[in-house]
Amino acid sequence: WNGPLKKIDDWRWLIPREYKKGMLTDGLIFANERMIGEIRKDQAPEQVANVACLPGIVGHSLAMPDIHWGYGFPIGGVGATHVDEGVISPGGVGFDINCGVRVIKTTLSSDECIPKKRDLLSTLFHSVPSGVGSEGKIKFTQPELKKILGDGAKAIIQRGFGWDEDKLMIEEQGAMSGADTTAVSEKAFERGKSQLGTLGSGNHFLEIETVKQIFDPQIAKVFGLYPDQILIMIHTGSRGFGHQVCTDHLRVMQNAMRKYNIYLPDRQLACAPFQSIEGQQYFSAMACAANFAWANRQLITHWVRESFEKVFHRSAQDLGMGVLYDVAHNIAKIEQHRVNGKTLKLCVHRKGATRSFGPGQRDLPEKYCSVGQPVLIPGDMGTGSFILCGTARAMEESFGTACHGAGRIMSRSEADKSARGRNIANELEEKGVLVMAESNATLREEIPAAYKDVGEVVDVVEKAGLAHRVVYAQPIAVMKG
Ligand code: 5GP
Ligand code: MN
Ligand code: MN
Repeated sequence: WNGPLKKIDDWRWLIPREYKKGMLTDGLIFANERMIGEIRKDQAPEQVANVACLPGIVGHSLAMPDIHWGYGFPIGGVGATHVDEGVISPGGVGFDINCGVRVIKTTLSSDECIPKKRDLLSTLFHSVPSGVGSEGKIKFTQPELKKILGDGAKAIIQRGFGWDEDKLMIEEQGAMSGADTTAVSEKAFERGKSQLGTLGSGNHFLEIETVKQIFDPQIAKVFGLYPDQILIMIHTGSRGFGHQVCTDHLRVMQNAMRKYNIYLPDRQLACAPFQSIEGQQYFSAMACAANFAWANRQLITHWVRESFEKVFHRSAQDLGMGVLYDVAHNIAKIEQHRVNGKTLKLCVHRKGATRSFGPGQRDLPEKYCSVGQPVLIPGDMGTGSFILCGTARAMEESFGTACHGAGRIMSRSEADKSARGRNIANELEEKGVLVMAESNATLREEIPAAYKDVGEVVDVVEKAGLAHRVVYAQPIAVMKG
């Protein structure tokens, strides 16, 4: 990509609105100088410019340093639109609606866990279904599924899969309001019924990690984190259900664009006015999918606890396996933000971007209210991951948003090619990381080199003030879908 990028400072690059006809605002990419070279390698910056054309966009069309090419919006893209004058776009959420990350704490140390990691990993592998199109262990009836789509994680906890307090440690308390199952197709129901409680494939994972570094001891204490502690990270989303919801509503919106006189540079940015019937229907269905994903991570949490109980012959309570937090990184949310001195009601699209609300914001668990929310940032299966905390500055700079991971630099096929003939599992084991995957192809597509350096991404995020580093953790055992 050869378009103009105007350096504002060491962390911010502007695509001026004059770059392209139809841009209603500037694009703004958070990255350092070195990363800009990488970012120019695909058409992701063009997508940032395209998002700037969305009717009703407020502030800049934003991109986080983990930006790479995605469907319509780039992954790492953030677009806030006015709820009364703006649109909602499924491409701004993505196919895996409410893909997200949950971290479960333990009171185990690495010394206690490392000797058991093989046992733990195979127990997890047997108790959490994974792989493309894998089916859940529990079949839900249509009325049960409907309840789950409305109540999210709570419906799962009520069935005995979880602790009451889990709910408090989930974004939106695990249930987004506005979910309406009449906006969900029969096909989505069909796909959803059998896939609740499954990890999925490829990029989705279940990881056992050790806390290696504490950057902010005070906030770490509030989060209940300390050196050498074992954590479990879950990364999955709404499976085939969310995918179907996205597909269904993209089609509806592609047909509705002309009706609303919306013309955009990219068909993949199909959208409809937020207040239109098409906009509202998508939002209602998207909320169902978001709740599906929170239910999914809840069910998996239950099996993770069971697995640890089996291996350690101690109760999950005794092992201190409370939820640290659960974040969505593919979602559109209705939020109030102050823009140029005015409070506006916005539809904030976060696509491969994590909410990073600072101290005192709504929806934060009471426990974290004074410091800001935990921002959960996975790196890759061989390197490490970060836990950050939301900031007041993010509220001003990015509608309370930070990155969602390291972000890919290689496509799946490039990664696969670069890893041909190598034994990735052995390479990782030599580094102290035990991995188990449905297929060796997955391991090749997911090699650490396929992702950016998460440390560099997080460094930009921190320097730009979008989130504040609290903890760094390294993997000891990873289950890949
Ligand atoms: P995405 O939702 O875009 O597929 O992935 C989010 C992020 O998760 C990626 O950008 C990558 O940095 C990170 N990631 C992917 N696989 C793994 C893994 O196995 N372990 C960890 N810790 N992070 C991963
Ligand atoms: Mn996903
Ligand atoms: Mn994800």
